Amino acid sequence: MKDKLVLLGLFLGLFFVACDDVEEDPNPPSPVVPKTTVITPDFDAQMAYDFIQKQVDFGPRVPGSQAHRDCGNWLVEQLKAYGAEVLTQEAQVMAYDGTYLPMKNIIAQYQPDNKRRILLYAHWDTRPFADKDSVRTKEPIDGANDGGSGVGVLLEVARQIQQKQPDYGIDIIFFDTEDYGRPEWLPADGDPSDWCLGSQYWARNRHKPNYRAKFGVLLDMVGAKDAVFNREGTSVALAPGVVDKVWKTAQTLGYDTLFVDEVTGQTIDDNYFVNMGAGIPSANIVHYHVSGPRPMGYGFFHHTHADNMSIIDTTVLKAVGQTVMEVIYQE
Ligand SMILES: [Zn+2]
Repeated sequence: MKDKLVLLGLFLGLFFVACDDVEEDPNPPSPVVPKTTVITPDFDAQMAYDFIQKQVDFGPRVPGSQAHRDCGNWLVEQLKAYGAEVLTQEAQVMAYDGTYLPMKNIIAQYQPDNKRRILLYAHWDTRPFADKDSVRTKEPIDGANDGGSGVGVLLEVARQIQQKQPDYGIDIIFFDTEDYGRPEWLPADGDPSDWCLGSQYWARNRHKPNYRAKFGVLLDMVGAKDAVFNREGTSVALAPGVVDKVWKTAQTLGYDTLFVDEVTGQTIDDNYFVNMGAGIPSANIVHYHVSGPRPMGYGFFHHTHADNMSIIDTTVLKAVGQTVMEVIYQE
């Protein structure tokens, strides 16, 4: 592209030299104005932390519980207070065991008329059991990290957008009923569709007909102390360019010890259904080990009672939040 511009310039120069005596062009080309540098606002990790604490204080956000209803209402009010146009999708969705769950997807739109859009999303429900723990396995978990952290970071992003709009219209979706999948104590059936019920519903019933976004970013388990965000395998398979954009941005910001270039196996998460069902290429920022002192897989807290506020680290929230902000403000 640059080479072609140079050639064009040479050609025009020759033209004017050859036609010395012609009148001055009444409509000279407007001078090239360099693109103004957009300053990405500073993500406040303490705010994100407080938003996680607030969710945990409601109690486990298990679909059908009072804590789930109360937290859902609070999230809607919070997003409205941060200037978003908010709508909800409510439906009954069938869980792995045949029971129906009251599902509520929460959708916040900024600049809804802007055709250029980016989608940010996380799940807001929490796991109804601690099926990877050795104690109290039938009791629900706090879900400070799995559920709370992605929402906490995106609420802070919403607060920032209200103060300064990026060029793109941003949609933030808090999907429900992500984490109600088949418990570990039952034999595995290999069916991923009992996870991510809210994003599956949304992919079939988007909040606007033919809704499109240039790309999406999912945040899941983005606040624990020993976090590592390897390139998640499903995202790499379905949206390599988005993964590259997010990881390179993080590394440029100096978060290269957290955002690592190793690739995980393919996992099932909301990004799979948003990608496959709605055609929006998405990257999943998710805590998942590939190599190192821990066995391959999610962090030690995953689906246990250790997933509480004691594992939440503001330096990790800052790295993820600032990276997401940089991605949306520099697009
Ligand atoms: Zn989970």
